[in-house]
Amino acid sequence: MGDLSCKLLIIGAGPGGYVCAIRAGQLGVDTIIVDKDNVGGTCLNVGCIPSKALIHAAGNFHRIVEAAEGRSPLGLSAANPRIDLKSTIAWKDGIVSRLTSGVGSLLKKNGVKLVHGHARVLDGKTIEVDRNGEKQRISAETIVIATGSVPVELPFLPFGGRVLSSTDALSLDAVPDNLVVVGGGYIGLEIGTAFRKLGASVTVVEAASRVLPQYDADLTKPLTARLKSLGINVLTEMQARGLTQDGRSLLAVSKSGEEHVLTADSVLVTVGRRPAATGWGLESLKLTTSGHFVEIDDKCRTSMRGVYAIGDITGEPMLAHRAMAQGEMVAEIVAGKKRAWDKVAIPAICFTDPEIVSVGLSAEQAKAADIAVTTGTFPFRGNGRAMTLERDDGFVRIVARADNHVVLGIQAVGEGVAELATAFGLAVEMGARLEDVAATIHAHPSLGEAFQEAALAGLGHAIHI
Ligand code: FAD
Ligand code: NAD
Repeated sequence: MGDLSCKLLIIGAGPGGYVCAIRAGQLGVDTIIVDKDNVGGTCLNVGCIPSKALIHAAGNFHRIVEAAEGRSPLGLSAANPRIDLKSTIAWKDGIVSRLTSGVGSLLKKNGVKLVHGHARVLDGKTIEVDRNGEKQRISAETIVIATGSVPVELPFLPFGGRVLSSTDALSLDAVPDNLVVVGGGYIGLEIGTAFRKLGASVTVVEAASRVLPQYDADLTKPLTARLKSLGINVLTEMQARGLTQDGRSLLAVSKSGEEHVLTADSVLVTVGRRPAATGWGLESLKLTTSGHFVEIDDKCRTSMRGVYAIGDITGEPMLAHRAMAQGEMVAEIVAGKKRAWDKVAIPAICFTDPEIVSVGLSAEQAKAADIAVTTGTFPFRGNGRAMTLERDDGFVRIVARADNHVVLGIQAVGEGVAELATAFGLAVEMGARLEDVAATIHAHPSLGEAFQEAALAGLGHAIHI
């Protein structure tokens, strides 16, 4: 392998890196992208897509079980429902390979050179790539660090055996009888709920006083109720301590010091993710950091000239669409375009049951920023479409400036609200006012009507409540 040089070198082919590479290729920038694993990163291989595939399969199985147990209000019946998890995982893997080979083709089509191997930083312009012991140097005018993040491991619950990371949990070949989830955040609740629907007995151990503590209590209330009705045992203000001596249970301790021994065939540890910033020479660049994350400015520049960073390695929110937007922006900057981060909001969706969406500011965040707000809320119990979907729990809430009604934030919780994130994002990003949302005809019957009604409620005249 001869040494290579290029204008733009991207380390990491996750959603941040591969989008950056494709856009740079489109703009005619001579680009090389390096990854030690399959292209697509965490998101396509072991994150967003595999987890949503599992959630979908679990939801379908759960419906059939309800019918078989005579609990379907639709009058459906079924007999002897079974799931062959190996087939489910094979179906999921098929989606992953369709998407990752698609990314490979797009890189090729846009003239990007893909190099497989483990990158090691030599200096701010040069890396060494190791592929099975064969070494190759690549030098570049500009480097983009897009190495993402990895799961946080608890020292007293190291991954391996029955202690699973999210990656392990997304490739099991059988449903565990008893699953204990440590960490009631995004991943723990999404995957934990899926396994409950697949038939596991699930306990969630969460250190904070409620699950998804980053969302306000009104948003998590319908979720907490649903977790209970699904039979998921949620233990809050509880810390995991480690496996019991026989390795068959998890020992957890409550805030008041009470010990709990929880039977566990598998323990899924989902207590956050940390940046992939160590072990590959990045430290030698002595980049300015913010906590463990690489600090960036509004152009994703690090403290070293010619070195950019995008995606999870730059901190919260660690979301694929943020990484992609950063990647696209950096490619354009490298190609000579004038760009800076000017997004009003980054939508967040939690694919729990019910789903939660948040775009922009909550009322509390606006108040903390000293902005006087007016809010409008519309419950799904007043929405016909929600009833036809058998789920009228949840609501849509709009937060707008009190003075000119410009929408600052929109939150929703309910079955199927994930798809409303698009409309919410557009409204916030385009500076819509309550009057704009209220005056837009929303098709009937749709969950989106609750968005229009929330705007009307903010103006004081909702129709259907
Ligand atoms: P990554 O996707 O982590 O990619 C980094 C790449 O860098 C990897 O391919 C890695 O192999 C490579 N790399 C690292 N170090 C080196 C090195 N030294 N040499 C060569 N290559 C290297 N986000 C959402 O927005 N929506 C979701 O629904 C969602 N669900 C998720 C579910 C799960 C279970 C998990 C774990 C995450 C989920 N996320 C979700 C988060 C999302 O996956 C990340 O925010 C996103 O993948 C970050 O993209 P990235 O490009 O920064 O890094
Ligand atoms: P998280 O930050 O969402 O949740 C971690 C939870 O673990 C928190 O509620 C925290 O209080 C709890 N916790 C921490 N230490 C604990 C301990 N010792 N015992 C018990 N509880 C403990 O982290 P995650 O679920 O691992 O997800 C990581 C990141 O991945 C998220 O921040 C998000 O950015 C991304 N992600 C996004 C999506 C999505 O967009 N739908 C889905 C999955 C993951």
